[in-house]
Amino acid sequence: MRLSRYFLPVTKETPADAQIVSHKLMLRAGLVRQTAAGIYAWLPLGLKVLTRIEQIVREEQDRAGAIELLMPTIQSADLWRQSGRYDAYGPEMLRILDRHQREMLYGPTNEEMITLLFKDGARSYRDLPRTLYHIQWKFRDEVRPRFGVMRGREFLMKDAYSFDLDEEGLKQSYEAMFVAYLRTFARMGLQAVPVRAPTGPIGGNLSHEFHILADTGESALFYDAAIDEVTREELLSADASTITRLTDLYAMEEEEHAKVETCPVPAERLRTRRGIEVGHIFAFGTKYSASMGLSVQTKEGGQVHPHMGSYGIGVSRLMGAIIEASHDENGIIWPESVAPFQVGLINMRADDAGCAEAADRLYERLREAGIETLYDDRDERGGAKFATMDVIGLPWQLIVGPKGLEKGVVELKNRATGEREELSVESALARLV
Ligand code: ATP
Ligand code: MG
Ligand code: MG
Ligand code: MG
Repeated sequence: MRLSRYFLPVTKETPADAQIVSHKLMLRAGLVRQTAAGIYAWLPLGLKVLTRIEQIVREEQDRAGAIELLMPTIQSADLWRQSGRYDAYGPEMLRILDRHQREMLYGPTNEEMITLLFKDGARSYRDLPRTLYHIQWKFRDEVRPRFGVMRGREFLMKDAYSFDLDEEGLKQSYEAMFVAYLRTFARMGLQAVPVRAPTGPIGGNLSHEFHILADTGESALFYDAAIDEVTREELLSADASTITRLTDLYAMEEEEHAKVETCPVPAERLRTRRGIEVGHIFAFGTKYSASMGLSVQTKEGGQVHPHMGSYGIGVSRLMGAIIEASHDENGIIWPESVAPFQVGLINMRADDAGCAEAADRLYERLREAGIETLYDDRDERGGAKFATMDVIGLPWQLIVGPKGLEKGVVELKNRATGEREELSVESALARLV
């Protein structure tokens, strides 16, 4: 992509309404713009990152055996009356009337809808177990939308729902999602701490939240220091034993921690940090299948209400969490796995025909090699180009200038380490492929 033809409104000023670093950087790097309180437009660069995050989430859901579908954002109030949650949900639900005065709502979650869809499509034990998921926009009329996409009103969520014949099956579905979550966050370069959570209004008996440690997190966590020692490699190859290892280690949110009479972790090993909730899994059993009349035939010919779980990931919130975890004073540092482009190619002298020609040729070579490149071909000062590349945080910068060209070299800069190296065009390309 040539920057001269792109839409990238980068700003130098730090927007006054942004309090935390990820929100500031998302605005400065031209990723999003707020269009109404807690509602954001995703600008081209932001959409690219969102899509890459979404794709990692999708791949790990698929790998865990979950099946993708897509449910609508608008739901009918009657659906929610069947579970009894229409009145219980409260003011976070955005309620809408259509032209026939029918009560509708913008879905904050989808337990009711998936239960009815499954009821329509599943007849017997042969149709179970199944886990279905979608990645869809949600709306919650948060009292205090803040921190940009971190707590939006409209936000993108992956929500999965599992259906099993019995509790043992549910436990297995829950564990498969647990593993998928550990892998998902590790692939994004994040260390997520699983925290035993109270089940709250969804009800049921088993629940974990996944938190990214960051000073700006809205939750206060207390956990065993041994959690910090779990490596990325371990998380990427997580299995049932990893779950046991992690869940055996103490980790609680403040409110729950306060209820614990004697903390099992010795004081010197108890860590307290703030966390951003990026995922939440629940095993709630037959709550919705029973209240909404979902049952299937068993092998023996009887009827049983499937045991269900639901599993959410805050896809759009993750973008903020990744930036909180990965930035410096100059801007964002995208992990390669979610970067909007792999390389930022900078032509230092757009007014120098030889330099422009060399940069154009390099751009073609990068494109042919399938490397996603943002090419700063604008007629701007080099300093401004560096600042733009640093703030948008592409993993690599490739710098073409007249002095280097005389020596037959270009400069390759690693955004994360700041290391710069002079290389021949061929070695630079070889490094990036
Ligand atoms: P929170 O405690 O932050 O309000 P929640 O517990 O209400 O979140 P869940 O119902 O567990 O949220 O939804 C699943 C996931 O959706 C959360 O773990 C979070 O990552 C994401 N999420 C929830 N609310 C928002 C929001 N307002 N903006 C962005 N993401 C959100
Ligand atoms: Mg909430
Ligand atoms: Mg929560
Ligand atoms: Mg939650």
